Amino acid sequence: MDIVEGVRKLGFRKWYEHQLVEAHAWLVTGFLALILAFALFELHNDAGGVQPRLLLLAGALASAAGGILAWLRYHHVLESTELAAQLATCPHCGTYGRLAVVCSAPQSGTAVAANPLLEDLPHLRVRCRRCEGEWRLEPPP
Ligand SMILES: [Zn+2]
Repeated sequence: MDIVEGVRKLGFRKWYEHQLVEAHAWLVTGFLALILAFALFELHNDAGGVQPRLLLLAGALASAAGGILAWLRYHHVLESTELAAQLATCPHCGTYGRLAVVCSAPQSGTAVAANPLLEDLPHLRVRCRRCEGEWRLEPPP
């Protein structure tokens, strides 16, 4: 879920929890895809005929690719969420995660190219729900 929409709809802490659940769902998906890949490869060794063997091998390769993509997605979601969480402490009163989005703007292409984690973390101006102080939720350059 997009951070702006998620924080507005759920609040930062619930958005953070949702992101962690999503990340770990990708981890489990990747693990299951790799198990499927190994199972299909094992069946491939026992299958008779060229066509079934090729189909099983193709399925094993596709499952392995899916497992790797799920693993990469897991890392991306987890790291971008952790980056947002590190910046979610109010610099005025020290309260963690009680913030509201004031405004947002997408990151520039060069910033995303330099740090792919910024793809999911736009320029955000947020307000503390406790002290009403505002700050930018951006990593240091
Ligand atoms: Zn505050």
